[in-house]
Amino acid sequence: MTTPFDLSGTVALVTGANTGIGQAIAVALAGAGADIAVAGRSAPDETQAMVERLGRRFLAIPADVSSIAPLPGVVEQAVAGLGGLDILVNNAGIIRRADSLDFTEDDWDAVMDVNLKSVFFLCQAFGRHVIGRGGKGKIINIASMLSFQGGIRVPSYTASKSGVAGLTKLLACEWAGKGINVNAIAPGYVETNNTAQLRSDPQRNTEILGRIPAGRWSVPADLGGPAVFLASAASDYVHGTILPVDGGWLAR
Ligand code: NAP
Repeated sequence: MTTPFDLSGTVALVTGANTGIGQAIAVALAGAGADIAVAGRSAPDETQAMVERLGRRFLAIPADVSSIAPLPGVVEQAVAGLGGLDILVNNAGIIRRADSLDFTEDDWDAVMDVNLKSVFFLCQAFGRHVIGRGGKGKIINIASMLSFQGGIRVPSYTASKSGVAGLTKLLACEWAGKGINVNAIAPGYVETNNTAQLRSDPQRNTEILGRIPAGRWSVPADLGGPAVFLASAASDYVHGTILPVDGGWLAR
């Protein structure tokens, strides 16, 4: 039986998939049939084992996305190593926390480089490949609740994730007619390294949990199904959307 969510015969490139949300998305895409390339700075051994257990091919591409220099090569290696490239998930991201009065240029630049600048230039490299071969492609950027809200003590993170939302819409407008769907997932509050500091602060933890209608923090696997949807033919007419996967946080 065929399903519009079947990814058999496709190749997905996920950045920063050795852990957290990226790992869960890579495994979910593999579960739907995609072969997986992972670009990151830490060895994705655990993710590789999970993907190969599902019977899919796996390629690790060592890359630090804090500069844009390696990005065209990442796309080339994925294509050469797995025979093509159809799906890009821009997941790698960092956060720096400090009061805005004390926030440093280093904390501004570091976050913007990984979370926004490299996202654009990896989309560009992917877009050149897909449009150059006259094919079809899917881009999924990872946005945030702070693509919609202000937050506190994370000025560069909020700026970068608001930028990701804008960029997703801009690229959708440019590429919807050229065979590429560009969308984003905006996770709510997910139990990963990124939120360890928040969860260890009893007051912030209680405040956050208290306004999540679902009554629990998200786990990375919650992002898997939405990623399969946006990577598959099921979303062929979905362009430029920022899909919240937030346990109802924004509805509150
Ligand atoms: P995480 O567990 O800290 O994972 C972040 C990933 O990004 C890791 O694989 C990390 O690799 C990689 N990365 C960071 N800097 C990199 C660089 N310069 N080059 C290559 N890879 C790099 O956090 P996560 O929560 O899963 O975050 C994944 C994405 O979701 C991020 O874009 C984050 O902003 C977003 N997000 C998270 C939440 C949440 O509540 N957790 C909510 C909304 C959005 P290393 O292990 O080598 O550092």
